[in-house]
Amino acid sequence: MTHHRPPDTTVSKRNSRLKAATPDKEFMITVSSLLDEAWYQRYQHISQLNIRSSIYDVTTKCNLRCTGCFFFSSGEHLVAEEEPDPAAWEAFVDREKERGVNLAILVGGEPTLHLERVDAFYQRIPTYCATNGLIRVPRDRFPDMMVGISLWGDSETEKRLRGKDVFTRSLANYRDDPYTYFLFTITPQQLGKIEPIIQRIGDAGLKVHMQLLSNDEDAPGFGWTDELLVQVRGEMDDMLDRYPEVVISSHYYHEVLTTGKMLGRTFGWSECPSVTEGLDTRDPRPKRLIRFNRWAADLKSKHRCCTSATRDCSTCKDGAAHMSWIMVNKRAHIRSTKDLQNWIEVYEMFAKLYQFLPW
Ligand code: SF4
Ligand code: SF4
Repeated sequence: MTHHRPPDTTVSKRNSRLKAATPDKEFMITVSSLLDEAWYQRYQHISQLNIRSSIYDVTTKCNLRCTGCFFFSSGEHLVAEEEPDPAAWEAFVDREKERGVNLAILVGGEPTLHLERVDAFYQRIPTYCATNGLIRVPRDRFPDMMVGISLWGDSETEKRLRGKDVFTRSLANYRDDPYTYFLFTITPQQLGKIEPIIQRIGDAGLKVHMQLLSNDEDAPGFGWTDELLVQVRGEMDDMLDRYPEVVISSHYYHEVLTTGKMLGRTFGWSECPSVTEGLDTRDPRPKRLIRFNRWAADLKSKHRCCTSATRDCSTCKDGAAHMSWIMVNKRAHIRSTKDLQNWIEVYEMFAKLYQFLPW
């Protein structure tokens, strides 16, 4: 999700030349017949982005221990020892670049505990850094690296789940930063209380994207029911309508995330696009993120997917996995104007979150 450099336009241009040489006529006619000129331009713009992401554990340590953190609750911090040698990180990122990755998503643990490792990525590939926001990424060293701050709720909820009021601190650390947004993981406890949080973020000159908590550690009162999911969808839609300058989202994303349904299909293991390529033994293999891996901090081991290695997929509410699910299923959306526009909006949302498009 970052981008001090634009995506590899050489690759994009080459691909569009290939497309021109072997046009899929039926496909192209269908797309243009569904869209008016303005939508078609938006479609063409994102079609050229060709994003290839992978996720990297920068460290197994964190300066917090949040209840419900999938990294610790699923034992992912125990899978591998950290690679200590900065040169090994640099060589690894070079290999990842050769593998075709053009978007490095840094997670942990807490990546800001090892800025030299973050730098190994930032110097080589567009890089997005997920953080809890307690330590400010120094902007003299990483002037335009996209930063996503994890947020679990209002100050009271954060105290309860994360042990302290992280929100107040992260908000102060990143006030008015143009390359930062909050990744707000909404819990059932937050229902009816979302608006003041969105306002606080907007007042600090920042953006917000929303996803839902998967209650991996069965914290009492934090599980979703069908009724609560209907309620949260309504609230997310309302926030997007009323704070379009602050909220980076789309109604279709809200629908798919809260219902777990897309075009009549059900999200889960057999559909998930965010499974590590080398560990993907599914047959038949669904549409998936090409070259996607989630690497552990030894730079050798891999985790199953973009989130918890032990989560029951039928309970998974991971926002990025749902977003990617929509994105990799482009062809299925080329069936009506509304479906295709929905797909375009989700792709644009993703591209904004990772700075391939301006806000
Ligand atoms: S800040 Fe993030 S990595 Fe650290 S414990 Fe909380 S959720 Fe886990
Ligand atoms: S836990 Fe979620 S992201 Fe991971 S494989 Fe299952 S559905 Fe996909």
